[in-house]
Amino acid sequence: MPFGRLARQNLKLNAREIPIELSPELCAIKYVHLNITISTFLILVPTRTFFPMSESKVHNPFAEVNEKVARAGELLKLKPGVISALSSCEREVVISIPLRKNDDVEVLTGYRVQHSSARGPRKGGIRFHQDVDLNEVRALASLMTWKTALIDVPFGGAKGGVAVDATKLTAIEKEEIIRRWTRSLVHVLGHHRDIPAPDMGTDSKTMAWLMDEFHRLEGFQPACVTGKPVELFGAPGREEATGRGVARIAAATLEQNERKVKGATVVIQGFGNVGRFAALGCEELGMTVIAISDVTGGIVNKKGLDIKSLLSHQTLADAQVAERVGSSKVLEVECDVLIPAALGGVINEENVERIKADFIIEGANQPITSAADRKLCERGAIIVPDILANSGGVMGSYFEWTQNIQEFSWPIEKFRSELDSRMEKAFSQTHKVSKKYKVDLRTAAFIVAVERVAKAFEMRGSLV
Ligand code: NAD
Repeated sequence: MPFGRLARQNLKLNAREIPIELSPELCAIKYVHLNITISTFLILVPTRTFFPMSESKVHNPFAEVNEKVARAGELLKLKPGVISALSSCEREVVISIPLRKNDDVEVLTGYRVQHSSARGPRKGGIRFHQDVDLNEVRALASLMTWKTALIDVPFGGAKGGVAVDATKLTAIEKEEIIRRWTRSLVHVLGHHRDIPAPDMGTDSKTMAWLMDEFHRLEGFQPACVTGKPVELFGAPGREEATGRGVARIAAATLEQNERKVKGATVVIQGFGNVGRFAALGCEELGMTVIAISDVTGGIVNKKGLDIKSLLSHQTLADAQVAERVGSSKVLEVECDVLIPAALGGVINEENVERIKADFIIEGANQPITSAADRKLCERGAIIVPDILANSGGVMGSYFEWTQNIQEFSWPIEKFRSELDSRMEKAFSQTHKVSKKYKVDLRTAAFIVAVERVAKAFEMRGSLV
């Protein structure tokens, strides 16, 4: 039996309660050490066998984040060992989730990756999507570290996920999955350890089930998860926070570049939490949303779509419009501002030459591959990176967390004004650093974030 299959079987047998620590640095070379912390055996696993999905993907999301960390680290003149530490994840847990299906069981794989706790408890969403794999979760966990540092909230970075098509799950199945995920991971979660939140394929209802399961195991602790329903310790304003932030960053970017906000044309990919509220926010700020898409396809109206009426639709499949385009073709519609707010890697070498927008505001995480990013920058497109553009979500989660801990609640007006002013501060800081170092906004955002995390990491001492 090949090493990989042996390791997989052991993983399945042991993973339910045991945190598995993998060294990402060793992954990058040929083999991974599986250091299973409770039982004490070590296995060498060829990565090709162990991570088949990541290997088959055209781009490597974790390596792409680490390229940016390394570039920022070099500009900041950090020691190579520190850059290497910041490019590794503190802990990676892989679990199996047996899901009842008719009279049989389907075994799903779940993840929680904790990238850094240098600046506070780890924070990050949980994604339910069929393409979720360990490498993607690492990348997203790492991005959370840089995002929380950039907006200066006292959190580190983490991310979780389950490889499952959320659109094919019943509500009962979704509840069963999140409860099992919580039971298997409870030992690494908690309001001062690691705080999950919604991401693609999960929502406030999912977070309510997570909180309920956590309470059964550990007692009352509403701050153990954010993005909860308002009726159940959620914060008014949290649901709209990511999209609201994206829209405000779009407006600020136009103004910074002496372009009119009113009447600027906007195209959005994604009609979920981020896409819907970004569309609404752009419309409220006077921009004209001319195209939007979801997994069912895209709709276009050059004179402007009526976003408020579209919001009553669950998907765009049954929206009444004259012109339709494909889900990804929407990215190529001519516009001033393009907001990818669905999947990662959607702007890549295959379609980059056809992307016409002057400004790209990254609502989704990693929507642009590194190769496409270089081409867009060469042709002068202004790109606001994910760790800044969509940071309204984790900012809102921070407000919810602090309110839960204080057992106090803010009115929505206070939530919104705090969100807007803190995002504006992060935007102008990033801008200043981009001028100082003569670099693009993405590099500048990483410089600010990496400097903060590196300082905290070094101040904690080297005998960790
Ligand atoms: P969601 O599940 O609410 O919505 C996802 C949307 O993408 C849906 O409209 C879906 O139909 C669409 N979609 C899926 N596949 C598509 C495809 N192939 N083409 C076009 N559209 C497609 O997810 P969300 O919470 O809105 O998250 C979207 C992105 O934003 C993710 O990258 C997520 O990591 C990021 N993000 C979310 C938050 C948050 O607070 N929810 C915060 C920061 C970043």
